[in-house]
Amino acid sequence: MEHRLEAELTLSGPLRDAAALGPTVERLAAEAIQRTIGTRGEGRLAEWKLEGDLLNLVLESKGPRPHQALLAFVRRFGEEFGRAEKVGVRSFRAGRYRTQFPLDSIPKKPVTLPVPHHLTHHGKEATLELTDLSEEALRDNWMDRAVALVKEKVDKQYYEGKEQFWSLLTSSPRREMPFTRDPTEEMLKRHWVRSGPTKGKWFLGPTAAHLFRTMERIAREEVLEPLGFHEVVQPHHDSFETLLKTGHLEGLPGEFYYVAEPKTRDPAAWERFTDLVKITGEVPKDELDKMVTGPTAVSCYAQCPTVYWWLSGRTIATESLPLLIFDKSAVSNRYESGGRHGLERVDEFHRIEPVYLGAPDDLIALRERLLERYARVFNDILELEWRTAWVTPFYMQQSGQVGVDDAKAHVKGTIDFEAYLPYRGTREASEWLEFQNLSIVGDKYTRAFAIKTQKGELWSGCSGIGLERWLTTFLAQKGLDPEGWPTAFRDYAGTIPRDVKFL
Ligand code: ATP
Ligand code: ZN
Ligand code: MG
Repeated sequence: MEHRLEAELTLSGPLRDAAALGPTVERLAAEAIQRTIGTRGEGRLAEWKLEGDLLNLVLESKGPRPHQALLAFVRRFGEEFGRAEKVGVRSFRAGRYRTQFPLDSIPKKPVTLPVPHHLTHHGKEATLELTDLSEEALRDNWMDRAVALVKEKVDKQYYEGKEQFWSLLTSSPRREMPFTRDPTEEMLKRHWVRSGPTKGKWFLGPTAAHLFRTMERIAREEVLEPLGFHEVVQPHHDSFETLLKTGHLEGLPGEFYYVAEPKTRDPAAWERFTDLVKITGEVPKDELDKMVTGPTAVSCYAQCPTVYWWLSGRTIATESLPLLIFDKSAVSNRYESGGRHGLERVDEFHRIEPVYLGAPDDLIALRERLLERYARVFNDILELEWRTAWVTPFYMQQSGQVGVDDAKAHVKGTIDFEAYLPYRGTREASEWLEFQNLSIVGDKYTRAFAIKTQKGELWSGCSGIGLERWLTTFLAQKGLDPEGWPTAFRDYAGTIPRDVKFL
């Protein structure tokens, strides 16, 4: 594996004693290579040349890549010549930076990158050359990131289209299914719900809202409060910075609803817009485009990212661990596009998201208690036919976010809760609905957000309680008539508002 970096340094002025430069440049390069590559590999200054105030260097290495050596050289050069000759490095760039690295598999099709580059491979040996790298790109480690991206894209060519990893954990007893219709269709007939004024959103009338809030109460009173979870209230908009740290921004940009802001709230600036509304009676789209910014944030996709933001850079006292909180204020928005269906897959849904942080053993024990509590709700109160499965997305295994051993030992990863929806067909042939999940993610987010404890490792995890999914699952199995509902649920629901009659 050989690497070659051709760099150009612009000095702040010409050097007085350019003739004596040779030995110093070579010494500084050797020091920089020693400090950054050392015994982990080999490095050398292959060529150098001074022309006016341009210093060209070619660094070659085996093992670690040489850009850290370049940064160290620049720093040392400034120290050395700043003192003696008042000359420093004003800026630097790399005309070409070539690296060789191994791939896990032979690419099935070409891999593209969004920066100037040339990529070739012989079998599993790849050679990547990035051209015209700025100082910022060198400082921010673009080469290592580009290499990681190439590897990720090649891996993806192999697992794309494969089913998500799925292995059954538990199954509830089979239950009678007297009701076999689509619950959303039935709710529409009774005017319990109306498909919303914008995409994938629903209006729940009093009856549906009451049942929906009953589900929320059950989750709180049967699961969260007995286990010691406390509610937090979080903002509804997620910053780009937060989603960069969680990885959501690179993973899901096509599923977000983006937030835009008015460029000004000065009524005078909006005069043309308001006048156009008055005259045309329509939304003046072009004028609106001029008056609002591009996206400045993302409408909540899931609640845990902003919970991690809340804790970022903080050390949690031992007495506050495990930290058990939940948010039910931020409403989730997702662009589901072709997948939308009824209340099951909507663009705006309400989810309680418990988030837990603590020592690994404490979280593993907590997962057991959560599973027991959830099981009581689904077996004894809602009387559902449901199952759990261990699911770890391929990309998580591939990218090393979850080690294969961890996944096998069922330590870090996700459990999906799925319910049978009779209207979709037989148990065997139809797709069951994921109505909630539960994850332990290890230190992925505590590390990304620099959240610490007084001592030991800090892990975290979350569970997504999708209330629309709890409600549709229940109604799909039990129907809309309270006579068909389990007594424990009816007790919880109490007096249900009568359907609103429309003529
Ligand atoms: P799916 O595979 O069904 O798209 P997901 O894996 O995207 O679900 P998560 O991001 O894990 O879901 O969110 C956790 C929970 O949020 C889900 O178990 C479900 O209860 C709920 N949920 C997710 N997407 C939707 C949606 N579009 N409509 C209603 N509830 C949803
Ligand atoms: Zn989460
Ligand atoms: Mg989804």
